[in-house]
This record gives sequence, C-alpha cells and structure tokens, in this order.
Amino acid sequence: MRIILFGPPGSGKGTQGDLIASRFGYPKISTGDLLRRAVQERSALGIKAEALMNKGKLVSDDIVERLVRERIAAPDARHGYLLDGFPRNLTQALGLEAMDGGRAELAIEIDVDSRVLIERMRNRMTCRSCGAIVNLNLEKPRIEGRCDSCNGELYQRLDDRPEVIAERFRVYKEETGKIRDYYKTKSVYRRVDGSGSVEQVFARISEILDRENAGREADR
Ligand code: AMP
Repeated sequence: MRIILFGPPGSGKGTQGDLIASRFGYPKISTGDLLRRAVQERSALGIKAEALMNKGKLVSDDIVERLVRERIAAPDARHGYLLDGFPRNLTQALGLEAMDGGRAELAIEIDVDSRVLIERMRNRMTCRSCGAIVNLNLEKPRIEGRCDSCNGELYQRLDDRPEVIAERFRVYKEETGKIRDYYKTKSVYRRVDGSGSVEQVFARISEILDRENAGREADR
C-alpha cells in the first residue's frame, strides 16, 4: 500500500512511521531524514537545503521531488511505502501523482493541539548516528546524551529551537489545508487523533491500516 503520513511538526510522524514500517513492512521514506543525511554528507543538494531547513522554511519542490522519485524507484518500495513529510504542499502532491506508481492510497493526518506540540519539540532529541527520536519528558537515556540503541550522540535539531518552531507551524498551516482537501476529494484522507501516548496513537493508526488491508483482501 502507498501511504502518506502527514501532520504538524512534532506530531509524531517519525516515531509512528517507524512503528508502521516495522509492523506492516512498508519502507518509511522521510524527506526530512533524506535531507538531513544530505546536509551531514555536505553534498551540493545538502548545502543548498541546510540554510532553509535551519530557518524552518521548505526546501524547493524540485529537490525533494527528486529525492522521492529516486527512493520510490528502489526495489524495496515496489509493493508500497510510507511517505513521512512528503508531500508538504499541493505542488508536491501533484508531483507525486505524476511519478511512476505515486498514487496515494491512504493519506493519514496526525492531528495534535499546538500547545502539546511545542512542549514535545522542546524536549525532543535526535540521534546523530541512527536518527532515533527520544523525548526527554517521557524517557531518560541510560547514558546522558547518548542513544540507547546505538550509543550515538543525542542532539537537538536546530529547527527544533522555539523561534524556528513558530515558522514551521506557520508554513504547515498555510499549506496543509490544501493537501487535506486534495486527499479528501480522492477519498483517501483519514484523520487520527494524535494525543496521548505513542502506543495509543499507534493503535489508532493500526486500526485504520488493518481495516484497509481487510477491505483489500475482501475485494480480491
Ligand atoms: P521534518 O523532519 O519532516 O520535520 O522536516 C525537516 C525540514 O526538512 C523541514 O522543516 C523542511 O525544511 C525540510 N523538508 C522536509 N520535507 C520537506 C518537503 N516535503 N518539502 C520541502 N521541505 C521539506
């Protein structure tokens, strides 16, 4: 199945995307992760993207579409994938549609109150080596400043600073309404309540995916 996961910054897309990938077997494709890797590698694309990302602005549609097109062409994505953080605007949604096999079959929005989001992002740390996300409010790493999974360094993303968070919310609000409407007209839109624990949100998403998969089985 080709799934799009979207939601405001800090809504848990990355964490839920990992859980969906491991339970349902779809590769998770996160444009944020792909871009952060390019920045770390100091590639030409990464250098171009870095300044925009640090200000909370969107990277150009061309760049992200190129990354997605290459990634969904990989063999592991042939039978479906989960897109995290893409599309971010209507141009990208239409760009995805034009890619080979890029038609979204499910577009899930994780909806969370903005006060909860700001609190989450303030306490969010990311592992420099494996990309794992740790919320210091919910879990303390065994060794301070180190990732429990790979012992990599935990850091706060530059774009998780309060002044950048505000800009990311603004950008999200401006663009999301159009994506939501677009996927509603395609009858693939589903809203998920993103409040509560990671497990509670995952249970809500799993219910949607289980129902969808059962419907497909029945249609066969
Ligand atoms: P994320 O990890 O999804 O929160 O993305 C982090 C940052 O990467 C965003 O604030 C943007 O600067 C950039 N980015 C990620 N995905 C996209 C996209 N689909 N279009 C444009 N910029 C993106």
